[in-house]
Amino acid sequence: MLRAGVVAVQGDVSEHAAAIRRAGAAHGKDVDVVEIRQSGTVPECDVLLLPGGESTAISRLLSREGIDVEIRDHVAAGNPVLATCAGLIVAASDANDDRVDTLDLVDATVDRNAFGRQVDSFEAPLPVAGFDEPFPAVFIRAPVIDEVGDGVEMLATWEGDPVAIRDGPVIGTAFHPELTADSRIHDLAFFEDVAVEA
Ligand code: GLN
Repeated sequence: MLRAGVVAVQGDVSEHAAAIRRAGAAHGKDVDVVEIRQSGTVPECDVLLLPGGESTAISRLLSREGIDVEIRDHVAAGNPVLATCAGLIVAASDANDDRVDTLDLVDATVDRNAFGRQVDSFEAPLPVAGFDEPFPAVFIRAPVIDEVGDGVEMLATWEGDPVAIRDGPVIGTAFHPELTADSRIHDLAFFEDVAVEA
């Protein structure tokens, strides 16, 4: 049994819950999904998901509820996190916006709404390191990853900009893997050492 906590203060929570359940089922693993709205739940979770949504709202609620400290401790202990879109903005070391109190889970600075300034939303077949086929990446008012530290692995770029990174136990994507039926990003974040059952 894997206990997966979906940070549920705001954003596309149910989509992430469904995606992690689907990925677990494909690996023959039961996933117990818990929604995180207050402090005390994160320490009971094996893995965490930080959904897309509105990063200013998410960051404000995380610090108000004292969940921010617990998420930092979760990562410091080496436990996995998947942070998508607004989740990545919150997980960054800086978001280029004072209204977002970033958690500094990944050594990367992001620019909120960088794609959004040009085009609101789009879907693209995205080559991802280690994937045989491109990933159907849905971008919705997506951030751009500006700068990454030395220890950060680049998993995907789109038109020259990084859009998926891994820093230790944390994977961050500018797009929304939870909005497609393709579970490979969730697999990579949480199940990559588990053989897929035939
Ligand atoms: N641009 C949004 C923000 O800054 C994120 C958009 C999303 O998660 N789809 O919070």
